[in-house]
Amino acid sequence: MSINYDVVVVGCGPAGMAAAIEAASWGAKTAIFDENHRPGGQLFKQIHKFFGSRDHYAGFRGFQIAERLLEECRNKNVDVFLNAVVYGIEKGNKLGVVRFGNSYIINANRIILATGACENSICFPGWDLPGVMGAGAFQTLMNIERILPGKRLLMVGSGNVGLIVSYQALQAGADVVALVDLAPTIGGYGVHAAKLARFGVPIYTNSTIERARGEQYVTAAIVRIRDELRQFDTDVVCLSVGLRPATELARIAGCQCTFQSKLGYGVVHNRKMETTINTLYVAGDICGIEEASTAIEEGKLSGLSAAHSLGLVPHGKAIRKKKEIGERLSELRY
Ligand SMILES: Cc1cc2nc3c(=O)[nH]c(=O)nc-3n(C[C@H](O)[C@H](O)[C@H](O)COP(=O)(O)OP(=O)(O)OC[C@H]3O[C@@H](n4cnc5c(N)ncnc54)[C@H](O)[C@@H]3O)c2cc1C
Repeated sequence: MSINYDVVVVGCGPAGMAAAIEAASWGAKTAIFDENHRPGGQLFKQIHKFFGSRDHYAGFRGFQIAERLLEECRNKNVDVFLNAVVYGIEKGNKLGVVRFGNSYIINANRIILATGACENSICFPGWDLPGVMGAGAFQTLMNIERILPGKRLLMVGSGNVGLIVSYQALQAGADVVALVDLAPTIGGYGVHAAKLARFGVPIYTNSTIERARGEQYVTAAIVRIRDELRQFDTDVVCLSVGLRPATELARIAGCQCTFQSKLGYGVVHNRKMETTINTLYVAGDICGIEEASTAIEEGKLSGLSAAHSLGLVPHGKAIRKKKEIGERLSELRY
């Protein structure tokens, strides 16, 4: 493993790979580090076809988008290190990395953090029983490890993650006994909710879990459906109650952050994706939960900005390209 790089990217999801491809395409010696044994971040779990524009791989399944980005990384000679946990960032852009039990210090001229997001949780009696888990954890076990964690699933949360994971559980052979959400309306896209409705899955809004029951593991869940308490026999309760940016490394590094109780920490950054530490950039869900398409554009912008700051991109060209990416981001967000 080389220990000196122009650009080091943490996180091998869509934002991190797009950032590395962009930086390397301007001649920066670039590496990506990711803690997983498979590259792709959230994308490798996604077996459904993505929405959006053709420029952002609409119509491809998530894992296919990851495969394409990874191939581009290889073509651009980006060093991709998997099973590599970045545990800290010291002054002078030194990253602490643990890989296969060995510890390394990596020097980087520029760092791009593309660490994605973490799942939120909620507390209720019985929430610590085996079988109560995040929807993302359920999806990882089902789609990556090929393990179905249970046969009778109660999903809490009707955003896109809750809807998609419920549908994938049905495809994998589980029953979804119900999907509940405290909000008055379904949070995710109608098209995903309609798929569940076609399978006869009941969706209850204005409703939530009161407790999980069981001795060794969850065997039932008590749900408040409006004013009525109802018991569902279940062996998995999935929580899909939002995501929050994974900002730990940015905070360790000393980047200025904001905090809002509903959103968690946010890393302060400018339009070039540069944080308050001028050699450290951010991209993707770490900046706020969005989608793969915006993560890819933010990744490109951070990779370009990092390469520009190293003097690798002609100034006029960099300004023009940054403006183009900014316009694409505005369009996607609109
Ligand atoms: C169920 C579900 C369905 C979705 N469907 C769609 C869709 O249809 N269309 C769409 O556009 N988007 C969709 N998304 C959202 C999309 O997947 C994310 O917005 C996107 O993956 C964010 O990209 P990212 O690169 O910022 O983060 P991620 O993809 O989360 O990648 C971050 C990577 O960083 C790694 N990492 C974090 N910390 C460290 C560390 N300290 N050391 C080493 N590695 C670290 C993580 O393990 C991870 O691999 C979906 C998401 C989910 C969960």
